[in-house]
Amino acid sequence: MIDALFSWLLLPLGFALGWALSRGYPHQGRAITPEKLGGLVTHLVSDNPDETLAALSEAAEMDSSAAEMHLTLGNLFRKRGEVDRALHIHEDLLARPNLPPELRNQARFELAQDYHKAGLMDRAEEISLALAAEGQYTVPSLELVRTIYEQGRDWEQAIRISRRIESAKGESKREVIAQYYCELAEEARARKDAAAALDLAERAASEDPSCIRAQLLLGALQEAAGEGAEAAKHYRLAFERDPRFLPEVIEPLRRCAEKTGDAEAYLLFLQDAKEMSPSSLPILAEAHLMRQEGLEVADYLAQGLETRPGRAVLAEFLEVLEHQPGVVAAGLDKPAASLRSAIRKLMETTPRYRCSHCGFSPRQLFWQCPSCKQWATTTPIDDVLKS
Ligand SMILES: [Zn+2]
Repeated sequence: MIDALFSWLLLPLGFALGWALSRGYPHQGRAITPEKLGGLVTHLVSDNPDETLAALSEAAEMDSSAAEMHLTLGNLFRKRGEVDRALHIHEDLLARPNLPPELRNQARFELAQDYHKAGLMDRAEEISLALAAEGQYTVPSLELVRTIYEQGRDWEQAIRISRRIESAKGESKREVIAQYYCELAEEARARKDAAAALDLAERAASEDPSCIRAQLLLGALQEAAGEGAEAAKHYRLAFERDPRFLPEVIEPLRRCAEKTGDAEAYLLFLQDAKEMSPSSLPILAEAHLMRQEGLEVADYLAQGLETRPGRAVLAEFLEVLEHQPGVVAAGLDKPAASLRSAIRKLMETTPRYRCSHCGFSPRQLFWQCPSCKQWATTTPIDDVLKS
């Protein structure tokens, strides 16, 4: 515990105290003396923040440098998860009538963050919006409000506040705005309002033409509406934007080809996919087509395994092998079946996606990473086994 205190509190506070000590408080004759500093450090190592605070307040009455020390301390308490203490410090600071305006605004912004962390979203929102309206801490305040709307899944407000951030910061927020439109489209889809869902997904795609999620959503909506050719166009676009999304489109594209009867388009796509992606999935898809035609695929899969040793292809190969007369006669069909079953189990339990921002590896695709809260950083993991 004392070690943690040293890292969180003692070092930064030591700097603040050292700075205050070097300045002294000649106008009040209440400089922090080495004795008082020693007393503060004793309180800190005794892990008693209340006494530390009391000592701080005693050491110097509220002039600006002491207020800055309180701000530092409050910030540290919040980072440590001690929100009540942070709130207490910042509320106490704001109750002081002589606090200079810049420190008052800083304390208000800190307080907004405390309220957010404490789950008091209305209060955090109110302070942040007031600060932004006064042109104080504008971008960080608006960003905090954006986070609050995201957490409340209030996507329309999140879009509105993002537009304000765009103009305040002079930086595009189109990527995240497209994600909010996709969220609205998903909600419309869930309440079976296909027309609204399509309109919102199209807005997402026009907001950010590189948005893969919007293309996948448009593909799914068009497919559900029976528009196979239109759906295939969007699925292909999603793949072309980022070939790592092949696992998300390969099966939908097969379904579309089946519905439209355009097998050639699907075969052409598989050719392109082999060129654009190192994945073994096109080999697997081609083998499925060959099996449907009654063709022998063992050699084809064996060849595919040499260049793209994916787990799915390996499992398929073993399944084909199990039924080869020579393999059965040699009594190798059972070991092949066990190995295939082990590979399939492994495939069912290993992560399928990874967030490029924080490394979080879930089994399902999240458009906002549940761990780091970044948007569109999670992509499918390549199935090909690497040495
Ligand atoms: Zn992440």
